[in-house]
Amino acid sequence: MNLNKALANLKLTLGLVLFFSLLSLCFYFPDLIASFENSSIAGFAQETLKEAYFYKKLDNQNVQCMLCPRRCIIPPGKRGYCEVRENRNGVLYSLVYAKPCAVHIDPIEKKPLFHFLPSSYAFSIATAGCNLDCVFCQNWQISQARPEEVNYTYLEPEELIEKVKKSGTTIIAYTYTEPTIFYEYMYDTAKLAKSQGIKNVMHSNGHINEEPLRQLCKYLDAANIDLKGFS
Ligand code: SF4
Repeated sequence: MNLNKALANLKLTLGLVLFFSLLSLCFYFPDLIASFENSSIAGFAQETLKEAYFYKKLDNQNVQCMLCPRRCIIPPGKRGYCEVRENRNGVLYSLVYAKPCAVHIDPIEKKPLFHFLPSSYAFSIATAGCNLDCVFCQNWQISQARPEEVNYTYLEPEELIEKVKKSGTTIIAYTYTEPTIFYEYMYDTAKLAKSQGIKNVMHSNGHINEEPLRQLCKYLDAANIDLKGFS
């Protein structure tokens, strides 16, 4: 009899635990959905594309990217060497516009810049991809990744500037991977930032063509050319 009573009590307890567990799942489910909608996977599904600023249209829907000295000739449906620029029906698109996969606040000395606003902090961003593939790369997990292989936060230039202001920093650093390959995002952000008194710093391998660099320099306040490697 006592055993039956104990079993009944156990069943009741388990039933209550199950009930409240389900109840709490229902309660939190909207948040789970919301977090998925904001996640990188959902973001990539939106497929936001930005037409490249520097390229030539060639015969048979081929294009030639004019952003860096590789000058990739890209057939329809293919990507350039950096894997973040794709030819879709004869139009070259950046696949990483507004999709930073790294967002951190770093000391400016980490860029490394030692004579530019010393002791200040830089709101630092990068997307996936690079136009080099150095075996010693410090950030190979993101520099050698395709855009769909990394997690990212969707941040249009305007939203990024708002985050910079809220962070209390006054510098944006384009860094970690190779900023040249996310040129359109960097250019639009830098232009907007400059108009609002925010400074722009580029940490680059320097593998960029002259014309895109000249255009970008209108909005840059400092640059460091080096390779990011383990030493
Ligand atoms: S930016 Fe990318 S697609 Fe363009 S030339 Fe350089 S490696 Fe090729």
